[in-house]
Amino acid sequence: MTFLKMQNYEILIEEGGLSHFAKHIKEVYEFDELFVVTDQNVFDLYKTKLIEALVGYRLSFVVLPPGEKTKSLEVYQQAIKTLIEKGIKRNHLILAFGGGVIGDLTGFIASTLYRGISYVQIPTTLLAQVDSSIGGKVGIDLKEGKNLIGSFYDPKFVLIDPSFLKTLSKREYANGLAEMIKAGLIGDKKLYTYLLEHDTVTEVEISEAIQVKRNVVLLDPYDKKERMYLNFGHTFGHAIEKKHQYETYLHGEAISYGMLIALQIGIQIGDTKEELYQEVKTLLKSRGLIQEPLLQMDDYRDEIVHDKKNLADGLRFIIVTKPGDVKIVKLKESDIL
Ligand code: ADP
Ligand code: ZN
Repeated sequence: MTFLKMQNYEILIEEGGLSHFAKHIKEVYEFDELFVVTDQNVFDLYKTKLIEALVGYRLSFVVLPPGEKTKSLEVYQQAIKTLIEKGIKRNHLILAFGGGVIGDLTGFIASTLYRGISYVQIPTTLLAQVDSSIGGKVGIDLKEGKNLIGSFYDPKFVLIDPSFLKTLSKREYANGLAEMIKAGLIGDKKLYTYLLEHDTVTEVEISEAIQVKRNVVLLDPYDKKERMYLNFGHTFGHAIEKKHQYETYLHGEAISYGMLIALQIGIQIGDTKEELYQEVKTLLKSRGLIQEPLLQMDDYRDEIVHDKKNLADGLRFIIVTKPGDVKIVKLKESDIL
């Protein structure tokens, strides 16, 4: 078991940790009524296990449709209505029980309903365990773009139980591996080396990936500076997701192509070795994250140029110089386009 301390809360990482859930809740919450927000898939798979883990508690469930469309104003409003109908009060506790969609939406509900209700995260996908449940960013999408409305709102604690991963599809599992490979490349050579040799992960590697993100988040809780390191592969990754209307590529797949483009740029400016590019390409291919022919940076120019935030004062770009080491370079439009 690993406990990681954030500024105001803890992340608990333990295979089978769900069975100690009630004990952890008692440490932060005095009542016996809990409000669980989840999606239909997670509800069908894990309702019984959750109820068993929380004997003695009265549970109210809000079960939402699976998928990114759930992170919308409409579902936000509907879910809040249901919570109020079910009798939620300001001092109650909400459980966000599901993947990144449920975590982001539920965290945003918790941050705004009655000006803030306590919540706990139990991420059930690998991507949510190593990425979206860490760092306190919550929010929803608008038609105009992803995560356009949101806030920073810390949970009471995050419980990470890798046993949820047994029911993930291969594609969803690889989706999380992509963020772990990124974490290794930007901040943990040992983790990267492990991921080269293994296609499954345990609580040890999940903890290592979380620690890379944690260390950056602690330096920069409100995403002003150092958090930028986490954006390795994401400038092009976001452009790829957007150009394909968030339908063709999962986030992990898009950033996989994005990481290769970033490594290529590193080679062009003399900071990255060709061998690293080949090694990462072979790895991402073998995990089913990318396919050849690769997506090319030329096809995503427009998305990058139109993303004003990227180009306001030159495009700051994350370059991996060797596994575990990064640097920020300022590129001019003409350097990459
Ligand atoms: P993310 O990949 O960002 O975490 P989602 O919240 O959309 O995104 O989750 C991806 C899909 O995986 C959803 O369809 C969700 O219902 C499903 N899911 C979440 N957790 C599990 C699990 N432990 N086993 C199987 N499917 C799951
Ligand atoms: Zn990401």
